[in-house]
Amino acid sequence: MIYDLELISVGKTYSDGTVAVSDFDLKVEKGEFVAFLGPSGCGKSTTLRMIAGFEDITNGEVMMMNRNVTHLPAEKRPTSMIFQNYALFPHMTVRQNIGFGLEVKGLPRAERDRKVERILDMFDLTAVADRKADRLSGGQRQRIALARGLVVEPEILLLDEPLGALDANLRRIIQNELKLLQRELGITFIFVTHAQSEALGLSDRVVVMSNGVVEQISAPKELYRRPATPFVADFIGANTLIEGRSLPSEGGFARLDTPLGALAGVGAPEATLAVIPAEAFRLSPQGTAGEICLPATVTGRQIVGATGYFRMQLADQREIRIETHAERALGLDAGASVTLALDPASVTMIAG
Ligand code: ADP
Repeated sequence: MIYDLELISVGKTYSDGTVAVSDFDLKVEKGEFVAFLGPSGCGKSTTLRMIAGFEDITNGEVMMMNRNVTHLPAEKRPTSMIFQNYALFPHMTVRQNIGFGLEVKGLPRAERDRKVERILDMFDLTAVADRKADRLSGGQRQRIALARGLVVEPEILLLDEPLGALDANLRRIIQNELKLLQRELGITFIFVTHAQSEALGLSDRVVVMSNGVVEQISAPKELYRRPATPFVADFIGANTLIEGRSLPSEGGFARLDTPLGALAGVGAPEATLAVIPAEAFRLSPQGTAGEICLPATVTGRQIVGATGYFRMQLADQREIRIETHAERALGLDAGASVTLALDPASVTMIAG
């Protein structure tokens, strides 16, 4: 199999001794949209810059279409990068900004003009093509940056928090455009973000990073459904994490002895942490066969339209939040005792 991009045990230690990334392994297929997600300082941008060729690689190898590019300069790689601040040349016109990369590549004038005109049209920028880049709105500048990245026809487009400078509304609009564009062009996108919703909403796969280490690489749904590490379980979605001592498996489920009693879930028998998504808790007087039943006390309730929002206290005093249909919330005031049922298939057991 030929991958568009392959990172083999890639690591980066800066000259001051900071270990920014270690042992990063990744294989990306043609046309995939992959997001690097994690808190600030976890090594996302460093990795992206190593892929682009803007940062030396301390260990490991970078392959693109079966070719080792580890020591290839940025301009010789089949990549193009879009920066958070767009890095447009303010004194150049939109047209000049977009054409710049082609000029650097030494394309003949006529071919350059043809490509620039086509992409101006595609991004609806023809009307402002002769304006200076600093005279335009945030959304237009974002489009110019994208156009400039794509006009050189890269195999892989690298995007470093490209929507970070936009307000929430524009961000949503451009997110949609970006996804459609990526599908249409079939270009591989590697997208760095610290915004969970952006990574989960846009990408085919998400690489979750923390402290320079890859925690998990999965499709967005899988990250929600089956977090692989305590960091991911805490970082993605709204999970309740309960530590325990492993018990012998039963009925195909791993089991844990916890302060809430025995819990069952999907995972390795030696797991020591149960991860319960907020939506897995179900208000039910006795649960159905095979379900885990947990006693709880209502500590707060709010009804908004058809939804009831509850705060509940579990037997170990921890508070959780759950949502249910408003009808079920009637009569359940603060202080009421309830039973929460859990399907073990929705619980994930991981190593703590
Ligand atoms: P992210 O993109 O996830 O916010 P970065 O890749 O920018 O993370 O940074 C990862 C780590 O490397 C951080 O600890 C950061 O302080 C450090 N770092 C980034 N650039 C440099 C540099 N040029 N010199 C030394 N340390 C750096």
